[in-house]
Amino acid sequence: MLENKNTIVQCKPLLPGQSLYWLDASTVDLLEYNDANASIIYNDDLMHRHLGCPSKEVLRCAKDHTKGFPKGINIPTTTGLCPGCAQGKMPAASHPPSDTRAKARFEWIHSNLKSFPVPSYHKYKYFIVFFNDYTSFAWITLLWDKASAITALKQWLALIKNQFNATIKEWMSDAGGEYKLGAFIKHLKDAGITVLQSAPYTPQQNGHAERFMRTIMDKAQAMRLDTCLPQSWWEFAVNHAAHCYNRTPMSCLKWQTPYYLLNNEIPDISHLRVFGCGAYVHIPEAHQVNKLSPKSELMVYLGRGPGMKANIFMCTPNTLFYSDKALFDETLHQCFDRLLDPPCVTPRLALSCDVRSSLSSS
Ligand SMILES: [Zn+2]
Repeated sequence: MLENKNTIVQCKPLLPGQSLYWLDASTVDLLEYNDANASIIYNDDLMHRHLGCPSKEVLRCAKDHTKGFPKGINIPTTTGLCPGCAQGKMPAASHPPSDTRAKARFEWIHSNLKSFPVPSYHKYKYFIVFFNDYTSFAWITLLWDKASAITALKQWLALIKNQFNATIKEWMSDAGGEYKLGAFIKHLKDAGITVLQSAPYTPQQNGHAERFMRTIMDKAQAMRLDTCLPQSWWEFAVNHAAHCYNRTPMSCLKWQTPYYLLNNEIPDISHLRVFGCGAYVHIPEAHQVNKLSPKSELMVYLGRGPGMKANIFMCTPNTLFYSDKALFDETLHQCFDRLLDPPCVTPRLALSCDVRSSLSSS
């Protein structure tokens, strides 16, 4: 096997005339195999998929503004066809960039709410976004109904008070039904926040949130469609798209990342993998049927779990599994139905955390 004229794997028959080839290799214990990156051959296409389909220009800047970006990758100027981008991205920008920006963290917050035609895996129908104008950092909360927006707002305000000791000066949203709820606006005004709402049918007045919504939906759709995952799994794609977005450099931030501007720390992206790819996930001994059971199981990678340092995986039968111990096969994608075909032989862990109550850490 060759790559760039360099030999990667070479096999020779043991004896002349044999058609069976011997591969001299060693096996790896999943638990002891910490440097999972060592076996991955990185290129621009793989990093494009890790970061949720950014442009080549963004990818070029990601080298200098993130930790864990593999060294020595040449980012070409021409763009090959990415099936996810082709299917998931909308063709034209409808909201021109605004040249006014906040001058401090949490000075202006934009908010928007998105509905979906298909209920998600956990039966969510909406998500609400809280978008920090100065840093471009975005928090996403999944909602079952519009009335839950007020609970999401209260939890988010408590989060930024606790984590960043911050208060909000101005709140900008469109004039959608959820924001007309007296309790929602009253809560903002009681907290001393100035509420600005865009005029009906003129979403460009809430341009920053509108552009974020478009970007996040493009990313989520590209990632989900690239790996042929069901529509109802949009909640995982949206959460992971926001996780990638917050760690992606942007020209409007002088190629810094939202994560850096919020936390004053360069984000590490070495944990990112191709959304929807296959992974051999370690099954804890207590959950193996017996000592002859496999120590790992092939599952579908669904991104980072909200608020935790573990990944989400889907295994049979349509059950979530949370783990930080997995070997990824990023060539296994567009095949989730094949991954889920084998009968489940391992009892499933009870869900260790509740995605339904996710005020996502994004
Ligand atoms: Zn793409």
